Amino acid sequence: MFYRSTRNSDIKVSSAQAIVQGISKEGGLFVPSEIPKLSQDELAALGKMPYPERAAAVFKKFLTDFTDSEIQHCVGSAYTDKNFDTANITELKKLTDSAYVLELWHGPTCAFKDMALQILPYLLTTSAKKTELDKKIVILVATSGDTGKAALEGFKDVDGTSIIVFYPVDGVSAMQKKQMTTQEGKNVGVCAIKGNFDDAQNGVKKIFTDKNVAEKLASNGMMFSSANSINWGRLAPQIIYYVSSYAQLVANGEINMGDKINIVVPTGNFGNILAAFYAKHMGVPVNKLICASNANNVLTDFLNTGVYDRNRHFYTTISPSMDILISSNLERLLYHLSGEDDSAIKDWFGKLSQCGKYEVSDFVKDALKDEFYAGFCDDTQTKECIKDLFDKYSYTCDTHTAVAVKVYMDYVKETGDTTKTVIASTASPYKFSGSVLDAIGAYDDSKDEFALVDILEEKSGLPVPQSIKALKDKDIMFSDVISREELENYVTSLLGV
Ligand SMILES: *Cc1c(COP(=O)(O)O)cnc(C)c1O
Repeated sequence: MFYRSTRNSDIKVSSAQAIVQGISKEGGLFVPSEIPKLSQDELAALGKMPYPERAAAVFKKFLTDFTDSEIQHCVGSAYTDKNFDTANITELKKLTDSAYVLELWHGPTCAFKDMALQILPYLLTTSAKKTELDKKIVILVATSGDTGKAALEGFKDVDGTSIIVFYPVDGVSAMQKKQMTTQEGKNVGVCAIKGNFDDAQNGVKKIFTDKNVAEKLASNGMMFSSANSINWGRLAPQIIYYVSSYAQLVANGEINMGDKINIVVPTGNFGNILAAFYAKHMGVPVNKLICASNANNVLTDFLNTGVYDRNRHFYTTISPSMDILISSNLERLLYHLSGEDDSAIKDWFGKLSQCGKYEVSDFVKDALKDEFYAGFCDDTQTKECIKDLFDKYSYTCDTHTAVAVKVYMDYVKETGDTTKTVIASTASPYKFSGSVLDAIGAYDDSKDEFALVDILEEKSGLPVPQSIKALKDKDIMFSDVISREELENYVTSLLGV
């Protein structure tokens, strides 16, 4: 098994190389040369294993250049009850006769990004050793909130790495800021940038590609790497929980082996739902992949028409992690669905960067219709859905999960499909306490973020995650605010190069 670039099928690298490199030189993304298969016997056997063993079994199929003990090291370091508040790592809750919620937020930062970012540091350091790049890995992250904190928690105190996170000074929520500025760990740095997310992102990109900085790092035995979701090392861990949830449904007697399920995913960058696509093509019996968007419904339109058009209004919504108009991981899907047509990919994504728009071939349009159902909802509908779930099913969910549930309800109304369905739940409601309380009519705008958490606990009866409770009394470790121009100096002086 090797990995090809979506923009040049002749490029072939090992999984370790794909993970260390992050992105291919000509701008393409790495994809597996074939999607490995899981037999029904293997799937059934997974149902009897604990999560870390399920993870190891799936990784073994994709990371064929890793030894068993390397995979064990990665899985055993990440998926423990020290890092997750349930030994099951994820929880599968029955919502209705046909719908199950797959809670992916039991990790240290209470969002699904922990599922990949808890293990990525180990995949990266192991890959660097395997490719004989025995350098210290320096991770730079520009974040609009969730990714920065999840990356900090993943990389903190991991030998052979250090991490610096930049966030826009007025662009993150109070809770997100508190989560980042109180970060502990010997190898971490957090800094606010004057400006918006794009300023932080562009500043980081500039250092990343600066030859002088790269040389300074190299002569000190260091190299930059990226923790963002175009890295195969972030995608592979996400395939596992879809495989795992199917095995779990069979083991619990909710479905019979071979029965198809639907999978619903609240989508932004298309990473999480693409992982579900890979799980399907590994052999998990899937009927429809249901792609749920908020008011930024560029993916809904694309999946329904085959025309991708980012030239549209950008909405700031109550599900901010899905406020995205360019979904990078779509490139991987289109590569597979077009029969690995690298020249078509170059054409479409060239058009996307030049004029913000492209249209796929009829062949790909048919394939999209076959695999996906797509829908969206606005903030009002999202809140109604939170209230509905709270009142009718005594289930408290966050804003992103509510988007998925609403789109699923619309799908059922439209199609009458009663296929058992797994809905990905991507954040703890406590991460968005204000919006959730607003939805159930219990918001108090005189209260700070921690008081809101207490009110939500009283209303929902759901235990507050330890990591959110502990935040209240933590000391602020980082209070630097710099301009974009100061970014390079900040990085080099922090690293001492
Ligand atoms: C990142 C994120 C998403 C979107 O996931 P993608 O992989 O970018 O599609 C959805 N919900 C939450 C809470 C997130 O943090």
